[in-house]
Amino acid sequence: MNEFELIRRYFARQPVTRADVAVGIGDDGAVLNLRPDRQLVVSTDMLVAGVHFPEGTEASAVGYKSLAVNLSDLAAMGASPAWFTLNLSLPAPDSAWLDGFCAGLFALAQEFDTQLIGGDTTRGPLTIGIQIAGFVPRGEALLRRGARAGDDIYVTGHLGDAAVGLMCLRNELALPQTDRVVMIERLNRPTPRVREGEALRNLASACIDISDGLAADLGHLLESGRVGARVELGALPLSCVYAANRDRIGWDPALVRGDDYELCFTAARANRPLLTSLAARFACGFQRIGVIEAQSGLRLVDATGQTYRPGITGFDHFPAAE
Ligand code: ADP
Ligand code: MG
Repeated sequence: MNEFELIRRYFARQPVTRADVAVGIGDDGAVLNLRPDRQLVVSTDMLVAGVHFPEGTEASAVGYKSLAVNLSDLAAMGASPAWFTLNLSLPAPDSAWLDGFCAGLFALAQEFDTQLIGGDTTRGPLTIGIQIAGFVPRGEALLRRGARAGDDIYVTGHLGDAAVGLMCLRNELALPQTDRVVMIERLNRPTPRVREGEALRNLASACIDISDGLAADLGHLLESGRVGARVELGALPLSCVYAANRDRIGWDPALVRGDDYELCFTAARANRPLLTSLAARFACGFQRIGVIEAQSGLRLVDATGQTYRPGITGFDHFPAAE
């Protein structure tokens, strides 16, 4: 199978269903129809085997996660995804692997009506670079800046399950087989909170997705807004599996280990009733975990009122000590 057959067989297989795609895969560039009442939101994320997913991760999970982490960035902006490109570096044209990769990738693409419109394919170490674009109504993008003292802080879903899954894979934690499978699934197939992000337009004052851990990512939101926060550990949303094993797991997987892809957002206190009714529409729920304060810095407080200090601040590819 040569490069062009590979592209045709695997990547040109998604039918073009979006009316805003005038020319998709197959020319030197894609041609897209734009509308004046909307702004384009563009983001990109790269996944490297052995860094962003363990070597040997099943191909469909790699395909799924590559798009999911990009969708999560658009979700954090309150954007509706439309198109993506795929830059793929692959050690060999392995059909079984490509079939699995495409199955995971296109299942998620279809769920969010997102069209693959181009890319590049090369031989090399397994690396996936996706660039994604989507829309927000003009002026309605959710930004990291915008949190005000007194705003409530919320997160979607559960925190820390992906980190617990990774601990299981590394044999740092023994769990019953069914729990282990569920946790590893959260690592491999994070749910991008796209619909939740769209629903938060005009409601959230600031928003970010949690890719490097709550402490680090909420920290970015606080810095952007020049504010601080107090977060109650007891309010952190934990899955049943995490909660049942919290004595062994501790707080850090929920705070600093990353790969959750949940949204962390702030909203004026006056929006509490609206957010409560909105949360009921989404299976993941919105959990209120703390409050924005004028004093800078993030204060994590346990049930006894003591300040908690995590072991590390968050995932960092280039930590300062290097
Ligand atoms: P060029 O010679 O202009 O770089 P290519 O031969 O690399 O073009 O690609 C031909 C077509 O296939 C283009 O439309 C390109 O966007 C698309 N394409 C290549 N690789 C991928 C990929 N991994 N996913 C989606 N589309 C791809
Ligand atoms: Mg060309």
